[in-house]
Amino acid sequence: MICPSCHSPNSRSGFICSDSAVRQFITSYYNKDHLFESECLRTTVYTCANCGCHFHNPFPSEKILSELYSNTICSRKSYERYFSRKKTRNHLFSILLNIIAFYLGSFSKQKPFLLDYGCGWGQSLDYARVSGFSLYGLEISPSKSLYLHGKGYPVFSSVDEIPLGILSAYPSLILLQQVLEHLPDPSQHIRAISNHISPGSIIYITVPPYKHSQLNARAIFSKGALQPIEHLINYSRRSMNHLASHNGLQMISLSSLVRYPPSYPNSISYFPVYAFLSIYSLFRPGTYFFYKQ
Ligand SMILES: [Zn+2]
Repeated sequence: MICPSCHSPNSRSGFICSDSAVRQFITSYYNKDHLFESECLRTTVYTCANCGCHFHNPFPSEKILSELYSNTICSRKSYERYFSRKKTRNHLFSILLNIIAFYLGSFSKQKPFLLDYGCGWGQSLDYARVSGFSLYGLEISPSKSLYLHGKGYPVFSSVDEIPLGILSAYPSLILLQQVLEHLPDPSQHIRAISNHISPGSIIYITVPPYKHSQLNARAIFSKGALQPIEHLINYSRRSMNHLASHNGLQMISLSSLVRYPPSYPNSISYFPVYAFLSIYSLFRPGTYFFYKQ
C-alpha cells in the first residue's frame, strides 16, 4: 500500500477495523446511527516500512468526509466545547507567537502575515491578534467561517482563494494545528502552502503524538491519535520530515533559526528567548517547525 506521507510502496498491514466496529464507533461517538449506510467502512491499519507512519486504508470517501465535517460534527457542541476550553489560556503559545512575530518583523517594516490553516473557532487568531501579525484564516466549516467573519477576520476556504502576493511578499508564519491527521492527501496541502509562501517563512505544525504501540482495538476506537474516519494518519518524526522535504520545506529546531536575530541588542534579551525556544518542543510532543528554503 502506498504511504500517504512519503509515497513508499513498502508497508505492512496490521489491525483490521471491521465495518460493524466502525459503525459502532460512529454511533457511540457522534450519536448518529443512520450514517453512511451505502458505504463499506472497513479499513486496515498499515505501517510504512520507510517512514514509520501508521495510516488507514482505504480512506473515507469524499462524500463521507464532506458529510462528517459539514453535518455530523455538531456545530453547537463543538462551539460549546471550544469556549469551555478557552478559559485555560495558552500562555506559552502566546509567548511563542510574540517571538516569531518579532523575528519575522525584522524582514519588513510591515506587519508579518499569519495564516492559520484550519483555524476552527479562531483561538489562535485571537492569541495572535496582540502579537502584531496581519491575520488570515483558512476554514472549510461554514459555521466557523461565518463566526470568524463576524469577528472581522479574513477567512478563506482554500489556499487558492487567498489573493496572490499576500503570503509571498515577505516571510510569514503558517499554523497547521491538529489538521494534517484529518487530510487524505497531506502532500497536496503542504505543496500548496509551500508554493504560496516566501522563502524564510516558518510553518508550525502540530499533530497527535506518534504512538507506535497504539495499533489495537482499544486505542484505535478511543478517539486517539489514529482512529477511523477522522484521524487517518499518525505521523512519526521521520514521516513529517519526508512530507516537508519533498515539498520544499526544511525541518528545523526553532531555536536554531532565531539564535541571532538582528534586533536582540544583548545577551540579556537573547538568552531567555533562546532558552524558551529550546525547551518549547520538549513539552509539546507532536510539534514540528519547518522553514521555507
Ligand atoms: Zn512512509
